[in-house]
Amino acid sequence: MDAQTLQHVQLFDKCKNYTAARDVQSAGLYPYFKPISQSEDTVVTIEGKQKIMMGSNNYLGLTHHPAVLEASRDALQRYGSGCTGSRFLNGTLDLHEMLEARLAEFLNKEAALVLSTGYQANLGLISCLVGRGDVVLIDKLDHASIVDGAKMSYGQTERFAHRNMEQLEALMVKHADRGKMIVVDGVYSMEGDVADLPSLIAVAQRHGAALAVDDAHSIGVLGPQGDGTAAHFGVVDDVDVIVGTFSKSLASIGGFIAATNEVIHYLKHRSRPLIFSAALPPANTAGVLAALEVMIREPERRELLWKNTHHLQTAMKDLGFDIGPSTTPIVPVLIGPMDGTFVFWRKLFDAGIFTNPVVPPAVKPSECRLRTSLMATHTPDQIDFAIETFAKLGKEAGII
Ligand code: PMP
Repeated sequence: MDAQTLQHVQLFDKCKNYTAARDVQSAGLYPYFKPISQSEDTVVTIEGKQKIMMGSNNYLGLTHHPAVLEASRDALQRYGSGCTGSRFLNGTLDLHEMLEARLAEFLNKEAALVLSTGYQANLGLISCLVGRGDVVLIDKLDHASIVDGAKMSYGQTERFAHRNMEQLEALMVKHADRGKMIVVDGVYSMEGDVADLPSLIAVAQRHGAALAVDDAHSIGVLGPQGDGTAAHFGVVDDVDVIVGTFSKSLASIGGFIAATNEVIHYLKHRSRPLIFSAALPPANTAGVLAALEVMIREPERRELLWKNTHHLQTAMKDLGFDIGPSTTPIVPVLIGPMDGTFVFWRKLFDAGIFTNPVVPPAVKPSECRLRTSLMATHTPDQIDFAIETFAKLGKEAGII
């Protein structure tokens, strides 16, 4: 076909007309996709300079633990670099089954299923269990993977305001005769507050609904052994499904679903995100198994994480910063409008501190924030430096 007859491709117009990110780039304030050229736990190198990492989900600092690295290296040698297929067919390793057994035991559930990301775990759970005629009820601040799992299911989605039990109760009554599943984050990823599991359990049990809790930010953080939100409240038997990720405390990538034998057996044979995607690679699976053991063996890591959390939270509140309802290592610092937030981010970055900006549509335009998260391996000096820099910039910006 000669060039004259080529038709305009309307579909790409949205790409051509998308300028929001380019505007921030040309202002020199673009905070995304910053390539890290080296990582030493709490310190990373970006653009040739060292930064204190205050935006990682590596809560226990296990990404560089010798036992985790050794287990990953050994698995790489024994099994090769990838599984090259689905768990369902050629991709299951004995390592996956060992990890599933260990997770089930650790979480006090009958069985567990390992998937290739936490995102897929939520897609796999919700799209598979919530069928035509069923309803999935989700908190408005639930993670995107829960929202997407709900969209992917053939059931109906209902959203209730954050932590609002009256709205949830009303939805339960509205859908009295349907199959129902409530899905919440254990720790909310942007706010850092904890789900009120005792109240959710009461509602779920009154109305015959299943309750699933996404413990992405709770494993390694909450519970007597780092065993999550249900363990924290002592209600493991009343939570039907625990979902989680290996991309945070467990220092790798991958996800899991823990539930009864019956539910896991069904998911293994019916869940499309499990069946139609390749299995978690050997080095990652072995690394997670090792990280889990270190996490259990070294509870002092969790204690340090909480010590660091209290240190940062107390200091930021004393300085007059608004950190919202956070009671966990996720500490979002309210800055205000988007432009000012990007400027604040850039100044922190130039001063040697890496944080994550949270802007619309994730939050209201006037409530942009810089999300920080603590690690067990942050030193008191690193945290003090972050606090001093926040204080100096916060005063300059008129925020405190
Ligand atoms: N759930 C929550 C609450 C999360 O914060 C995340 C990751 N940000 C996920 C699920 C997805 O996990 P993964 O990175 O393993 O895909």
